Amino acid sequence: MAAGRRIAIIGAGPAGVRCAERLAGRADVTLIGAEAELPYNRVALSRLLAGEIAEPALTTHAAADLAALGVHYLPATHATSIDRAGKHVLTDRHGAVGYDTLVLALGAQPVRLGFPGTDLPGVLMYRTLDDVRRMIGVAATGGDAVVIGGGLLGLEAAYGLGRRGMRVTVLHAVDRLMERQLDHDAAAMLLARLAGMRIETVLSAQTETIEGEDRVRAVRLADGRVIPADLVVMAVGIRPQATLARAAGLDVRRGIVVDDALRTSDPDIFAIGECAEHRGQCCGLVAPALAQAEIAARVIAGEAVAYVPRTEAAALKVAGAGVWSAGQIDDATAETIVLDDTEAGEYRKLVLRQDRLIGAMMYGETADAPWYLDLIARALPLGLLRAALPFGPAFATPVASGRSAA
Ligand SMILES: Cc1cc2nc3c(=O)[nH]c(=O)nc-3n(C[C@H](O)[C@H](O)[C@H](O)COP(=O)(O)OP(=O)(O)OC[C@H]3O[C@@H](n4cnc5c(N)ncnc54)[C@H](O)[C@@H]3O)c2cc1C
Repeated sequence: MAAGRRIAIIGAGPAGVRCAERLAGRADVTLIGAEAELPYNRVALSRLLAGEIAEPALTTHAAADLAALGVHYLPATHATSIDRAGKHVLTDRHGAVGYDTLVLALGAQPVRLGFPGTDLPGVLMYRTLDDVRRMIGVAATGGDAVVIGGGLLGLEAAYGLGRRGMRVTVLHAVDRLMERQLDHDAAAMLLARLAGMRIETVLSAQTETIEGEDRVRAVRLADGRVIPADLVVMAVGIRPQATLARAAGLDVRRGIVVDDALRTSDPDIFAIGECAEHRGQCCGLVAPALAQAEIAARVIAGEAVAYVPRTEAAALKVAGAGVWSAGQIDDATAETIVLDDTEAGEYRKLVLRQDRLIGAMMYGETADAPWYLDLIARALPLGLLRAALPFGPAFATPVASGRSAA
């Protein structure tokens, strides 16, 4: 890489920061971040909300670390437009930032549903440290919280608010919790566990309006039920942050379209993390965002490498009970093996096609997750290993292992 090459990175989330770290010292790196804080661990926000860690523990890079790396960090700075012909980014606080190569690491924004009342004070999204600070502020006086969305993020919010002493109701539009990760049996076990923690769940809930005048007071459902609320958290999905790229004339579908080298339709601009769309897929987990950052940094440094997506797993822990799933778990045509021990709170479902593991789901103890993930990723015939599959690697004999996937 030529000395003094200017690399501007927009977005100081995990993807942007990782890319900056990898390129620092080899180029002149400027990292532009809209949030006011030092880079922090977004994944750990739920632990902060649940009171398991304090705010300083979230920070991943002190100002001195970034300076020592040689990264020029511009916090609380919005990139407002990209001038591709002039090769610079316009910002709201630091004027124009020139680049030879630009990396978009803009992340995603939470979806805000369109019914009346969503703009009332006390209706929050769940994305940033600032969102969590506000939730903690409301929770300090107790009261009622309604979480709209019974997916992974919504349940983490519900758990955290419950731990902070709020009465919590989860409203979920579908007939089971975490329907993308769990089947009906596992979802029912999770629902029972939440009920034991005094977190109520309303399934197939159709929210009609959020009521209140100066601030939120209640949520009204289409069936007439009114649920009191001092706080409403909306966790109903994310949308790739692509406005800046679209305005700059880059190719955008759901996310910013990139090739295997993570280049956008402009060869001098890369996109990584949740804002990018690679082979029709936008990621929603931190591991692929970081993997993309690594690959983009290597390509920018001159290596001929390509990003290859891996099977990713979703995990959640609610009061000691783990929930984990990976691969294809809802393929009705595939074969399934189920281990169901409701008494012990253990449930596993393995999904197979042509003697290969294509998906797995666990509720309860989830320590065997890496083994299942590896089997799904390697996609080798299971052979004798099949008999041990529901019980985990401890039951996979060397004979079975030698003749099959493990
Ligand atoms: C509460 C919570 C819990 C989560 N838990 C998990 C988990 O357990 N496991 C997991 O794998 N994933 C989890 N995730 C998802 C994970 O955090 C994301 O996948 C990851 O943060 C994506 O990284 P990113 O860098 O692509 O985007 P982001 O982290 O969103 O970072 C993008 C940054 O770009 C900034 N930005 C956007 N536009 C501009 C602009 N115009 N100018 C300047 N800056 C801009 C944004 O402000 C943001 O700081 C969780 C997310 C949340 C919110």
